[in-house]
This record gives sequence, structure tokens and C-alpha cells, in this order.
Amino acid sequence: MNGTEARLARLRGRALAKAHNARTIAALASNPGCARRAILDAAGVDKQRIAAYAGFPAPFGQSRFALARGNAFEAQVKADGAAELLTLLRERLSLPIPEAHYDDLSEVGGNASLDLRHARTKTLLARAVAADTAEGTMFDHPLLRLEVGGRHAFLEPDLIAFQLHGMFHVVEIKSFAVIDGQADPGKVAAAAIQSAVYVLALRDALAEQNVPPEAVSHETILVCPENFSNRPVATSLDVRKQLTVLRRQLSRMDRIDDLLDLLPPGLTFDLDPDGNGVPQRSPADLAAAIRQVDAAYAPECLSTCEMCFFCRDEARGCVAALGRATREELGGVEHVATVLRLARADGMPGTADVPGADLAEAADLLRQAARLRTGILGADCLGTDALGEAS
Ligand code: SF4
Repeated sequence: MNGTEARLARLRGRALAKAHNARTIAALASNPGCARRAILDAAGVDKQRIAAYAGFPAPFGQSRFALARGNAFEAQVKADGAAELLTLLRERLSLPIPEAHYDDLSEVGGNASLDLRHARTKTLLARAVAADTAEGTMFDHPLLRLEVGGRHAFLEPDLIAFQLHGMFHVVEIKSFAVIDGQADPGKVAAAAIQSAVYVLALRDALAEQNVPPEAVSHETILVCPENFSNRPVATSLDVRKQLTVLRRQLSRMDRIDDLLDLLPPGLTFDLDPDGNGVPQRSPADLAAAIRQVDAAYAPECLSTCEMCFFCRDEARGCVAALGRATREELGGVEHVATVLRLARADGMPGTADVPGADLAEAADLLRQAARLRTGILGADCLGTDALGEAS
């Protein structure tokens, strides 16, 4: 174990490591400035568990029913060498009859080691590129890697990388229904960003074999049940926009080593379980440890991160907690209390509150807004709660 791995293991403590997946990477990339999430994810900390123990449980994750349904649908589509999927691909993409080769990469000769599976994935992908034959049509559970914050995260996709005429496509199997050609837009958007993560990882794997990125199509294939049946239907998703955003956000992330250097040496998120697994550490002590790592809370965290209620509570009273648009409008004003003082025009705040910031413009805008609001709603509407200071 190298120094970085040892430091991350110490942060995680005795709990089992949670592996990255496309969803966690997509969520991480949506808030690249958050050191707290970057560190917790890199260390494989169970965020849901520590947030709950610190007093801020968040309802994240799929229900057992949804998980079982998803697994059953995936098993059905992949049964008998992915026979049902092949039928769909033949219809949708005119896949020729001889193209039916199927490789299961979930283990190598009974060995499920991540390094071995990753090496086998790369070998088979390279062989498929070189062969230019029907060999290497479908790869079930390829093990890919993506660099996140200077470290490689393994991705064990719930997908098949599918090759046709030298072009690879990512196939994502989801159990949400497509009804009359329409699916839940939020679920489709999440599937698109997750597919984009796999496209990036697949491009990286092929780049190591000197295969250009264009060999992996930006058109991914989403397979879902149709209407109220279990009959699968395939739809194309263009993930070019998601790829651009992901690349930009991942490149903005700080390196994990640099973030680790900023932390106190003895820091750990271990719950200190006794022989029966009952945590001995006090919730307040754990909360204090979590606060040692800087966060960058934004309202979007509520739909993407298990730490959201903890961080929202911590960010109470800060303009950033009201969202990116508000923060930009109020350029440089950090606290809601300052905003209210500016709006009430009872003096300029001290420079310690907003070092170096020119508040004149923000103050003008706020006073105009306050006058308008008072005109519409009546006298003094700028109490403490007006901008959610106490919320
Ligand atoms: S909820 Fe907290 S830890 Fe998670 S991304 Fe937001 S600020 Fe970071």
C-alpha cells in the first residue's frame, strides 16, 4: 500500500471501502470544488452512514424493490449470451447475423481480481480492434478505469461495450419504463451522464492500445422495459454535451494527494465499533472530524450527495447555500446577514467580511430590490428570515 492509499485507509477506518461507480463520478464532477466529497469518495467512506451517524440522515439510494427489479431486468436482457439484446441491436442498428460474439468479463478463469479483469478487458478490446472480424462483438461487465483527482477509480459498469465495424458503443441497461416512447427526463439525464462516464473510461482504455477516441461512439444505447411489460426497447442517446461537461469538471478537480496534505495527520472517519459493531465514537466528535475537510455546498447537492443535510446545516447563513445564481448576483458577499445589512442601507460591512470586494454595485442592487419589495409587500419585509438567514 503506497502513502496515499495508507492515508485514505486511515480516513476510512475499519469500514469496508465503497467503490466508485459512474453515478458517484458524475456526482463528484457536478461539484468539482468540493474537497469533502472528493476525499470521502477517494477513501471509499460510506457517506450515507457517517451523515446519518452525525445526525443528518439523507434518503439516498434505490429501494430494495427497485434494485431487485433492475437486477431481474438486466439478467433477462443478458440471458443466453445476451440473446434478447442481440435481437434488439439487430433491429435497431442493423447488426449483421455473424456479429454475435459474447465475452463475460465479470471474472477471469474464476478469479475476480480487479487488476486481472482490467488487464483482460484491455486485451480483449485490443484484440477486437486488431481482428476486424465478428470476434469481440459484446463485452459484458468490462472493468474500466478513469482518472479522478489524480487517482485511478475502477468502474465496474453494468453494461456491455459493443463493437460494430471497429466502432464501440456503450450500452446502458436501466429498469425504468419507456411509456409511449417517453421516459422520466430526470432518469434519462442521469443515464446519459453515467453513459458519458463509461465512454470516457472506454476511450482511456483504448488509448492505452493506441486506438483514437473516435473509435468509441458518442451515441450510446439505452435499453429499458417498454410500456408496462418487461419487453426491452433500445434508444440512442447522444452524450456529446455530457462528455464536454465531464471532461471540464474532472480537469478542474484538485489532486487527492494535495487535498490530503491539507488535513490533520490523525484525522479519521472511523466510527470505532465495539465487538458487536456498535459505534463507540460520539456523533459530535465525528461531525467535528467531517468539518475538518472543506465543503462547497450548493442546493444541487440535495439531489446528488449523501452529505447534503450535514453540509446544508453547516452552510446556513452563507450566500453560497442559496445557489450559484444568487452567489454570482451578489458577487463577493459571503454572508446572508451582510446581504440584509446592505439591503437595509444601515451601513457598509467591514472589509473583514468581504476582503477586497467592491460592494457598491451589490449594495445598489440590493437597495433597489429592497425598495421594490417593500413597495409591493408593504413595510419592512427584510426581517431576519427574508433571505432565509435562519432557514
Ligand atoms: S453535500 Fe457536502 S460533501 Fe456533498 S458535494 Fe455538497 S458540499 Fe460536498
